[in-house]
Amino acid sequence: MKKHNFCSGPSILPQVVFEQAAQAVLNWNDSGLSILEISHRSQGFVDIVDEAVALVKEHLQLTDDYEVIFLSGGATSQFFMTAMNFLDKEETAAYVDTGIWSAKAIKEAAAFGNISKIASSEDKGFSYIPKSYSVPTDAKYLHLTSNNTIYGTQIHQLPETDVPIIADMSSDIFSRPIEVERYGAIYAGAQKNTGTAGATLVIIRKDMLGKVNRKIPTMLDYTKHIAKNSALNTPPVFPIYVSLLNLRWLKSQGGVPAMKTLSEQKAGALYAEIDRNSCFIGKVAVEDRSLMNITFLLSNPDLNDKFGAACDAAGIVAVKGHRLVGGFRASIYNGMPMESVQVLIEVMQEFEKENG
Ligand SMILES: *Cc1c(COP(=O)(O)O)cnc(C)c1O
Repeated sequence: MKKHNFCSGPSILPQVVFEQAAQAVLNWNDSGLSILEISHRSQGFVDIVDEAVALVKEHLQLTDDYEVIFLSGGATSQFFMTAMNFLDKEETAAYVDTGIWSAKAIKEAAAFGNISKIASSEDKGFSYIPKSYSVPTDAKYLHLTSNNTIYGTQIHQLPETDVPIIADMSSDIFSRPIEVERYGAIYAGAQKNTGTAGATLVIIRKDMLGKVNRKIPTMLDYTKHIAKNSALNTPPVFPIYVSLLNLRWLKSQGGVPAMKTLSEQKAGALYAEIDRNSCFIGKVAVEDRSLMNITFLLSNPDLNDKFGAACDAAGIVAVKGHRLVGGFRASIYNGMPMESVQVLIEVMQEFEKENG
């Protein structure tokens, strides 16, 4: 039976990416070698990194002011690496708390400088994006989580500030154009919209670098990774290759602008059904709804298991909400086709006929 995978991460990738990745494991580029056995010092791998970096720059329209590297350690390592590399002990960075991932970023950064939590949506269970706050002009940077994977909220407008923004874009990078020049750094675990688990994409504006006094261990120092073109030590070769395949696919589809249109269609159709269907309720403030992670509740929570079973029966996978927030969540990253969203909508409509 065909599966429709709505998992929040690791998540669905385009079928052609799975096929090309599988082929490369057996015989990469007709070399007679598996991608899993090539040296990270070989020209072949250097070319993979160079093309992936070039595609990231093209897709996000990055100027030469920006460096692009692939690291390991997940977005979670970036919670502390950003502060370690960009914030001195006496300096202050501003953080907006929009849920679990932001909270982890705040906790990890606190070891390296003063962290000022300037806004939070905790008062309403992180069901909205705080907007009426001002960013202290002396803040070293402002940290934002652009899309809150767990709650299903997304920042649709950046706050007014001249302070460089550092954004965790793990779950919405490449899904919409960004105002590049506003960012001092961007990071994203690859397993949602970039590629597969094991690589982390980090984008850094050059003027952010080399401005802290502390001694940074080599493996945690952005400047060292940049100098070695993402191969300071053995990098996650295969996840970087899968990212390259996915970035090529993205280009073939019309790039980020096309993904924005598609995301609006997919999310629009799902939200319209949630709003229309008497069995379901949207969880978050309408103006802050995420186009990547669509969260909803059943109006009668006693029917949760029944809806779960209806999804199973239709081949729909991983629509259960995050264990900390409950309900349901459909993650519809770039690789998710409209047809699968349509299958979920039909299950919701059938469910209403039987239970509404
Ligand atoms: C998934 C996710 C993370 C965690 O990423 P890891 O790569 O597992 O460390 C962090 N932030 C956001 C917004 C996420 O969606």
